[in-house]
Amino acid sequence: MHIHYLTGEFARSTSEIAFLSSQMDRTRAMLGFTLVFCVFFFLCFFVTDVAVLGMTAALRDTLPARLLVTAIAGTWAWLAYRRPLSIRAMRLAASLSEGIALCCFMVVAMARPHEVHWHAMSMLIMLVVIYLYIPNRLVYATALGTGATVVFLVLVTFMLPSRPVSDLVTMGMLLVLINTFGILAARRYNCVAREQFRLQMTLKQLAQRDQLTGCYNRHYLHDHLLEHELERARHHKHPVSVIVCDIDHFKRINDTFGHHEGDAVIRTFANLLHGMVRDGVDAVVRYGGEEFLLVLPGTDLAQGARLAEDLRAAFAANRVAPDVDGPGLQTSASFGLAMFDFARDDGRITLPDLILAADKLLYAAKHNGRNRVEAIAMN
Ligand code: GH3
Ligand code: MG
Ligand code: MG
Repeated sequence: MHIHYLTGEFARSTSEIAFLSSQMDRTRAMLGFTLVFCVFFFLCFFVTDVAVLGMTAALRDTLPARLLVTAIAGTWAWLAYRRPLSIRAMRLAASLSEGIALCCFMVVAMARPHEVHWHAMSMLIMLVVIYLYIPNRLVYATALGTGATVVFLVLVTFMLPSRPVSDLVTMGMLLVLINTFGILAARRYNCVAREQFRLQMTLKQLAQRDQLTGCYNRHYLHDHLLEHELERARHHKHPVSVIVCDIDHFKRINDTFGHHEGDAVIRTFANLLHGMVRDGVDAVVRYGGEEFLLVLPGTDLAQGARLAEDLRAAFAANRVAPDVDGPGLQTSASFGLAMFDFARDDGRITLPDLILAADKLLYAAKHNGRNRVEAIAMN
């Protein structure tokens, strides 16, 4: 998970999307709050306009722009709170509303040409909001912020009543400064948030996964998987199959080829299990040294038995160290499968019951000659 040094975002888009998805609730809340705040301020400006200007031509000129910004910010605030916007939609919303708000601001600046200092101050505030408070890609925020700054300076220099050069230089310097600090602060914020996420992911990986094989560990099985899958099975009323499998005569592999080769065989077996189950649906747990557990939601006895048989055959086709000095040693594993259909009955059984039953069948498979599958339906 490499963080890009310029943008402070993850270089790989899948990591970036995972990060943004994990932040979705917080981002939506921040966006909603910022936009409500903007609406409130624009309405205050509208009231002060009426109080100060009365119903003059200047008010008439600025009113539609102010109302448009208020309406857009209000709509996006409502959407941010009520509708789960996707990440793309959120970025589009941010860029669009920032763009429209900046255009409206230019209209107001043109309609009130003698208040350039106040406009410059408003511009500074808008830039802070764009860089720090509206969630968007840094590159888009930078394009919008610097683009608006250039347009504003052109407007002030060439289209509004002429001002002393020192005024323009100071204004320009302040705007350049706020853009620079805005970009640096946004980049820093991006980096810190992503470094935190990366750390969280590493800790999660260490807490949930086995280091040798990348499978879930027993801690994860007992703390999360058992309860979660049982709840899901009862809710959706689907069958759940559990397979417990163990490599045959593994001590022999260790004794003949050494622990290093033994580890490689365990990894090969784990990769095979991972490769043949459904990604994101089935769970592979390293249950003991060379014993694994598969939790297969929505899998009935026939499907579970077919998978176990395929796994058995694939592992039996594997050989340890085949080209050292001979054909090597054929590997095999034994499988115990227990299935419970929650569509038929959901009160009696828990996943530990299924695991226990599958474990007993594994030992039956060992007893009956190894390299085989024993299966049972619990209802
Ligand atoms: P069986 O067919 O009855 O299962 O026979 P087996 O020799 O495989 O017996 P058992 O399952 O009891 O053997 C487990 C062995 O696995 C004992 C232990 O030294 C070894 N082992 C456990 N964890 C690891 C590991 O992480 N790496 C290696 N290389 N060996 C391990
Ligand atoms: Mg064994
Ligand atoms: Mg064992």
